[in-house]
Amino acid sequence: MNLESWIHGVISLNLQNDDEFRRFSGKSFLHLPSRYAVESYQLYKLNQALRYCRRNSPFYRDLFLSTRAPSEDLRDLSDLASFPFTEPHHLSGNPYRFLCISQSEIARPYTFITSGTTGPQKKIFWTQSDLDRITSFMSAGMGTVADPGDTVAILLPDGKPNSQAYLLRQGILKLGAVPVVGDADLNANELLQLVEQSHCKVIFAYARKFFRLSKELEANHDLRRKGVRVLFLASEYLPDAMRRQLARIWDCDIRTHYGLTEMGLGVAVECEAQKGFHFNEAELVLEVVNPETGRPVPAGEEGELVFTTLNREAMPLIRYKSHDISRLVPEPCVCGASSLLKIDTVKKRLESTATIGVGDEIYPVLFDDALFDISGVVDYQIIASRVNGIDQLTFKVEMAPHQAGEISEISRKLRSDPVIAKNLSARRILEPEIEIVPWGGLASVGRAKKLIDDRR
Ligand SMILES: [Zn+2]
Repeated sequence: MNLESWIHGVISLNLQNDDEFRRFSGKSFLHLPSRYAVESYQLYKLNQALRYCRRNSPFYRDLFLSTRAPSEDLRDLSDLASFPFTEPHHLSGNPYRFLCISQSEIARPYTFITSGTTGPQKKIFWTQSDLDRITSFMSAGMGTVADPGDTVAILLPDGKPNSQAYLLRQGILKLGAVPVVGDADLNANELLQLVEQSHCKVIFAYARKFFRLSKELEANHDLRRKGVRVLFLASEYLPDAMRRQLARIWDCDIRTHYGLTEMGLGVAVECEAQKGFHFNEAELVLEVVNPETGRPVPAGEEGELVFTTLNREAMPLIRYKSHDISRLVPEPCVCGASSLLKIDTVKKRLESTATIGVGDEIYPVLFDDALFDISGVVDYQIIASRVNGIDQLTFKVEMAPHQAGEISEISRKLRSDPVIAKNLSARRILEPEIEIVPWGGLASVGRAKKLIDDRR
């Protein structure tokens, strides 16, 4: 099933069960898939959510009062822009002030840290029905790549009750497929064993970690004959070179998904067009804003993704600044989901960018396409330093077993990058340093969201 049918299914169900929604919409054709139906549903739910927050959330009651946010219902989705933002640091301050329910109704406090392994902890609360909606979306997302009856292997850490692996497992069960939860830290041979024994058709895994294991197995095993149909990868950005290699190694389709813990883990899934994501518009309203001014950017331009939850009971979030940078793709998607918006790939986070030389922006995945195009490269890390007042980038590059790192090839690829070429010729950066790291050397940084190690 595709995501568009699922979202319109949710809207139809709401029409069936909610007299007020039927009266609000005043239209009889809302059960048919259209952009109009999605936006009418969102506007109706958004007004409900804002009223709910004003009544029940101490945080939003105070914030709306102090910022003189409108107290009447919105007449258009764009009116949401007159509400204040919620910043990630608000969640690490006093998350209990967000709560709209009594603490006894919380099914799950989810504590997490974003941006690598540092930064303040945040807490998110969900009720059981919040969790049910989350697993329904996971089921719908999984349904874009798996069929009922398929075995789906999940390689995520921590299968404890209500962990991400646990919820995804529930989602797969809702779909009528068969989940098999493997250890996220399994080694290459354990992965091979899991695939052979479970006969899984779909594998859900972290892209970089899975790429590493695949490269290791590739040398001695023909993975094309293992029957895997789709690799469903968690990745902020999957470089084309990595996608091509994985598709070749496993002879299968590759899809990615975009998640954000605050928004219920699963947010968006890549469609068969493989260029961007459709997202859960039954649960989320998206705005794209200039991260500095907070104003909406013109359609199709890059900005920060800002999400508002529509149905959350425990802890609704209004205009939550994700710090993820992307854009809405204005052209219609070739997959045909004409009533849905589409988010382009997410390459940058606000915390992950740095400037070098004449003031050019760099971010951790900027060189992915260049470096993963070299067949032995498994991972790399960027270190920014300053030598005698001039910026220098050091690339630690890890190679697959039995693959010697060709420093000259890596150097050539990097020098052809426009940002590096421009700053080299302006003499505003030093030649990039390249350090070949032995197999496994970057394994520990592979799982966290990548950051540039800025030592300046
Ligand atoms: Zn599409």
